[in-house]
Amino acid sequence: MEKKQKFSLWYILIGIWIVLIMQSYIASMYATRTIPYSRFLNLLKDGKVTEIAITANKIQGRMIDETGKDQGFKTVRVDSELSNMLDQYDVVFKGEIESTFMRDLLSWIVPFMLFIGIWYFLMRRMSGQQPGFMSLGKNKAKIYMENELNVKFDDVAGVDEAKQELVEVIDFLKTPEKFNELGGKIPKGVLLVGPPGTGKTLLAKAVAGESGVPFFSMSGSEFVEMFVGLGAARVRDLFVQAKLKAPCIIFIDELDALGKARGMGTMGGHDEREQTLNQLLVEMDGFDPKAGVILLASTNRPEILDPALLRPGRFDRHVLVDRPDKTGREEILRVHLKKITYSADLDVKHIASMTPGMVGADLANLVNEAALLAVRRGRKEVSMSEFEEGVERIVAGLEKKNRLINKKEREIVAHHEMGHAIVALSLPGTDPVHKISIIPRGIAALGYTMQVPTEDRFLMSRTELLNKIATLLGGRAAEEIMFGDVSTGAHNDLSRATDIAKSMVKEYGMSEELGQVYLSHDKGRGFLETGFAKSDDYSDETARSIDNEIRLIIQAQYKEALSILQEKKEILIKGAAILLEKEKIDGEEIRALM
Ligand code: ADP
Ligand code: MG
Ligand code: ZN
Repeated sequence: MEKKQKFSLWYILIGIWIVLIMQSYIASMYATRTIPYSRFLNLLKDGKVTEIAITANKIQGRMIDETGKDQGFKTVRVDSELSNMLDQYDVVFKGEIESTFMRDLLSWIVPFMLFIGIWYFLMRRMSGQQPGFMSLGKNKAKIYMENELNVKFDDVAGVDEAKQELVEVIDFLKTPEKFNELGGKIPKGVLLVGPPGTGKTLLAKAVAGESGVPFFSMSGSEFVEMFVGLGAARVRDLFVQAKLKAPCIIFIDELDALGKARGMGTMGGHDEREQTLNQLLVEMDGFDPKAGVILLASTNRPEILDPALLRPGRFDRHVLVDRPDKTGREEILRVHLKKITYSADLDVKHIASMTPGMVGADLANLVNEAALLAVRRGRKEVSMSEFEEGVERIVAGLEKKNRLINKKEREIVAHHEMGHAIVALSLPGTDPVHKISIIPRGIAALGYTMQVPTEDRFLMSRTELLNKIATLLGGRAAEEIMFGDVSTGAHNDLSRATDIAKSMVKEYGMSEELGQVYLSHDKGRGFLETGFAKSDDYSDETARSIDNEIRLIIQAQYKEALSILQEKKEILIKGAAILLEKEKIDGEEIRALM
């Protein structure tokens, strides 16, 4: 296909050439005899010239030739003074016009070629370094076979939970028959979610490497094309190719570039991206996972993805690839240390503890930095001092990215999170604490306390809601107890607590002062429908009591949280110390502490 396209360009050029040659040939056929100017003058004297047409330097006409036949002739003029003289001496002379043929040819062939060249180049650019400009719709997905792609699970460290989730996918790809016999339902699409550099792309490759199936990998941005419809064609083509190679993996890296919620972003939307996304949705619905095609995708911004992509039957399984904890970082360091020579007394644990907040890519970079430093210093092996300097360099760079947390801040975060956990564990009806972590996540959260509900809840009692508020305020209460001061770290907690309190007063009729009334009538009626923002249906006085009630609820629960934590200050201190050391505590451990 591509070859043919190249040839056709040559055909065009050869065609042009032939036309040019024919043109000059035909012209010469019709041309009349060209005679020297002196001959013309003689003919003129002899009265043999019957008619002439004169131009600036040519004379054309008809004459009677030696044989008495009427014939056309052509001659080039020589200026009269010279011709008179030459005539006297009986010289045969003729004028000659310098041939401009080559010049003419060059003057338009060159720009023409240039034009074709530029066009060809642009086409190639648009279709992404692809030779042959008619195959634009073809995708550029590379097919890695297992031997090319020798990334294995062992190369990805510190993300054990994500790996566990993917083992099933590998099993399926290795023996799809087994799953089909049992009638088990395998997920069509698995979405790897996590901050940049945590190893999502690496993990996808490892899945392919482990299962030994073809791996079609494309980046989301590669689907978004200059021309409307091309991206969609590319998606179609990708799935056609993949189905032929099943069992296999299709991996779409950085899905967010393609899968941004429709109607978001630029004014008037981006038709091309939308079409591509629609095509992807159509293809995902259209293929049967039993055929053995598994779709993997990665993103670090799941929140901006189109909800349609996340619906059941599409990317319904999400695998969190989180920032590694201390042991995770140690494992990742060991993976990358295999590639360099390092001194025997290198304390990998210590390096891991120096690098809170770093992800796999940072650590790979750190190992590389240290190795480069050692080379620069003329060392034979990389030692601790290179790593220490490397950490400093990277950390100085990271500070800008707001990811480095200093010691003091880490302490605050640890006590804050412990505060949440202790209050939650002390009050009935709160969700059990699953895990606490002070590994920074994303940009905003410095730590988190994960509470996993034991069952789905549709109704909540007043006490449960109040306890929830107390839990949310537990973080700030712990800060106040421990440091006598509070930080900005609680703003999300405060906003959630306030929301709950507000709903209690305005929607659930749970305030004594206001009673069993529903005061939230403006809900769901937006600016567009009514034309004007509609205000609530209550008086200013009621508004004041609502505010007052909310404040009272919050205050009471804050007091409650404070008193719980005062009582369990020892556990708070102990727990925070463990958290600072290990960066992560699971629910069991905290319960044991209490
Ligand atoms: P992401 O796709 O999540 O942004 P990548 O998979 O591209 O991150 O990771 C970039 C590089 O960082 C990898 O090639 C690898 O060298 C290193 N890396 C990242 N995470 C890990 C990990 N968990 N274990 C080992 N190396 C990792
Ligand atoms: Mg990636
Ligand atoms: Zn908090």
